[in-house]
Amino acid sequence: MNNTPKVWILGNGQLGAMLTHASEPLAINVEAIDIVNPDNRVLPMSSNDVVTAEREQWPESSLSLQLSEHPNFINSSVFGLLADRYTQKSLLNELSIDSAPWQLVDDDVSEQVLHHKYGSNVLLKRRTGGYDGKGQHWLKQDSDSVIPADWRNEAIAEQAINFDEEVSLVGVRQANGDCIFYPLTLNLHQDGILIVSIAPLSRLSHLQAQAESMLSSIMNKLDYVGVMAMECFRVGDKLLVNELAPRVHNSGHWTQTGSHIDQFQLHMRALCNLPIPQPKVTFNCAMVNLIGTENDQRWLSLSNAELYWYNKEVRLGRKVGHLNLSIDDITATSNSIDKLKQWLPEQYQTPLEWLRSEIC
Ligand code: ADP
Ligand code: MG
Repeated sequence: MNNTPKVWILGNGQLGAMLTHASEPLAINVEAIDIVNPDNRVLPMSSNDVVTAEREQWPESSLSLQLSEHPNFINSSVFGLLADRYTQKSLLNELSIDSAPWQLVDDDVSEQVLHHKYGSNVLLKRRTGGYDGKGQHWLKQDSDSVIPADWRNEAIAEQAINFDEEVSLVGVRQANGDCIFYPLTLNLHQDGILIVSIAPLSRLSHLQAQAESMLSSIMNKLDYVGVMAMECFRVGDKLLVNELAPRVHNSGHWTQTGSHIDQFQLHMRALCNLPIPQPKVTFNCAMVNLIGTENDQRWLSLSNAELYWYNKEVRLGRKVGHLNLSIDDITATSNSIDKLKQWLPEQYQTPLEWLRSEIC
């Protein structure tokens, strides 16, 4: 008999769709709800049902309220805390976890003070709502840029980190407090948007324990249940946390191809209190985000690629799908990179060569 609860997902974008897809083999009854264009229905929820979210913020409507006020909305207090960079960075400070030095952009602070504290380039980030590099503003001393008036109290200021590279850790915490992690993922961003991820990489394995200890202390402090992602800057052998996401994460999409339990199933298992063994990583993988580009059936001819197409309207700078490449055969991967360089827009040339240099 299936005793697992029904799971409602607040949001029905690509993450909601992939959570739904991953639930099928587990026979978990799941429904992803559109809260951007809500309808007027009242959801037939029961008190045993469980609620999760595919995003950390949402517009208020009777539908989103019904979901977010359900007593089994797992991690309900965490979303607001992590959706606001001010409270998120305060939590990191409280746990003595290193991140870029920062402060609130309050009514009194001047550009001069920020440059004096953090250097000639200071990154202002909106406290809420930013994603894919949106909601950021560089204060550059050379060009005398100023703090936008309506950013006061609505933004934080961060020191620019001259990092070696960006990595992320995706992990899960179960209701009993046990934490399980995937190997670290190497991430390349272009214009603030993740474009390519690679995992696992043996050259990063010495950082795994450091990353796991940071993310476990965060998840334990929040009494969190489910998948969380931690984006970091690597500076030498030190990790600085850039940001946290209380959900499945783009840099964990490679697990759909490279692991016997992917991040979506991991999250669903944790929510439903199902057993979770350590996921076995079966392939080294690369994930290429498809950004602002039309669906191209030639991708399906690649010998080592899996396509995930989100069926969204294609817009400039919008993530509309991803390709997972298994890297069990270097020659096949190199051939796929050659073809993708021909088929994808100009902006992919450098990231794809970067991918080749990391794996060959
Ligand atoms: P989001 O992903 O929500 O848009 P992030 O804070 O992750 O916001 O910033 C996006 C990207 O901008 C990062 O992945 C990184 O490449 C760059 N970035 C963010 N903060 C800093 C910083 N303090 N110094 C240098 N680069 C940064
Ligand atoms: Mg980010």
